[in-house]
Amino acid sequence: MPELPEVDALVEFLRPKVSGDFVTRTDVGELSILKTVDPPLEALAGLEITGVARSGKALIIEFEGLELVCRFARAGWIVWHDLVPTGPVKMGKGPLGLRVHLASGAGFDLSEAGTKKNASVSLVHDRAEVAAVAGAGPDALWIEANEFSRLLAGSRSRIKTVLEDQEIITGIGNAYSDEILHTAKISPFAPASGVDAPELLDVIRGVLGAARETLTGLPPSKVKAAKKRGLRVHGRTGQTCPVCGSTIAEVSYTDKSLQYCPGCQTDGKKLSDRRMDRLLK
Ligand SMILES: [Zn+2]
Repeated sequence: MPELPEVDALVEFLRPKVSGDFVTRTDVGELSILKTVDPPLEALAGLEITGVARSGKALIIEFEGLELVCRFARAGWIVWHDLVPTGPVKMGKGPLGLRVHLASGAGFDLSEAGTKKNASVSLVHDRAEVAAVAGAGPDALWIEANEFSRLLAGSRSRIKTVLEDQEIITGIGNAYSDEILHTAKISPFAPASGVDAPELLDVIRGVLGAARETLTGLPPSKVKAAKKRGLRVHGRTGQTCPVCGSTIAEVSYTDKSLQYCPGCQTDGKKLSDRRMDRLLK
């Protein structure tokens, strides 16, 4: 799932390419992607793109008086075209969710791999009309230390859960929360209320900031692979920790898994893998 650093890289890529250009047409490839009906997508035709921004993990294309809010879910992303294909779009077939044509001849798609279609597009007057944006907590890069301390102190959840909860702090998902906790040498299962918040916040800024620097300047098609290359524990079960040499372990859930280093994060102890526990009973 695209997280803050990847979406920031996307914003930096798109901004100079689309700002000042005009939308000529939009094609919908997947009806369920569109979450709003009024104003209709056709309202974008003829409008100038005035800016590109990020809110949490969402990408926002800005127009005078309108905002196109794109949420990527797990497998959605932007495909950029220097020359956008103008042929008809086949509905419900393939990854194309929405195609935006620009007056320059360029354009971009919101596409989503796989069979689960969870990416979404909302055309609204203000991004705050999108519940997930309005209900999001402060941005992971800009939250103040005292506010972060207060949020952690008041939590009864595990730190991994808190970092991924967009209503508490927005921008971090499964991959970068694994990376952040590995760098901070904190167990993903540690109670959030016991964590040194200012210290963890420094790590959050460091990990997200470094990822942003690595990914910014890359075209959207290269971002995912570059993100993977930069990860030290996430998705690396069974590999060697680059910090301490231990074998990276994982905890599996029904639809996802987390990775951690027992040497760096849990005093060598293995965390309970619920799926495995159930199988062994
Ligand atoms: Zn380690």
